[in-house]
Amino acid sequence: MKQRVSKSWDDYYLDLLDNVASRSKDPDTQVGAIIVDKNNKQIGMGYNGFPPKFPDTEEYWKRPTKYRFVVHAEMNAIFNSLEPVNDCTLYVPFYPCADCAKNIAGARISRIVIDTEYYQNETTDLIFKECNIEVTVRHKGQTNKKSRSSDEQQDKEKSTTVRETKCTF
Ligand SMILES: [Zn+2]
Repeated sequence: MKQRVSKSWDDYYLDLLDNVASRSKDPDTQVGAIIVDKNNKQIGMGYNGFPPKFPDTEEYWKRPTKYRFVVHAEMNAIFNSLEPVNDCTLYVPFYPCADCAKNIAGARISRIVIDTEYYQNETTDLIFKECNIEVTVRHKGQTNKKSRSSDEQQDKEKSTTVRETKCTF
């Protein structure tokens, strides 16, 4: 009997990120993050936002004021987790910033799955390498080799231009 196949867990959770991100009140960039255990069971999710009870006024959400108060999606996913996140997988749309990267390592998350290399930076790379955190990049929307290499080129250009910059969302 031929088995029916569904989309991969990585594609499933990366596709879900847009919906999680849509809860964010950030007027510029909405980011979602999901944490999944060894059995592909979702145990945490979060989006970028101010801490609980911090007022979501337009003034606070303006650049650059918001950078002082916003908690990134990765951190909120860790805070909201129902179970310990050690040895779990974190899904995010692009490279975590260096601050999140060290906390991800501190929480003992062992695998990161991202859509693109956007926001790639040397500190995050080094933390993930030294802490033995596996990084998988999907490159969204690539259905054949030709579009894949063209997307990879675009991603490479993007990551080159943002390299060394701090998180700006
Ligand atoms: Zn971050």
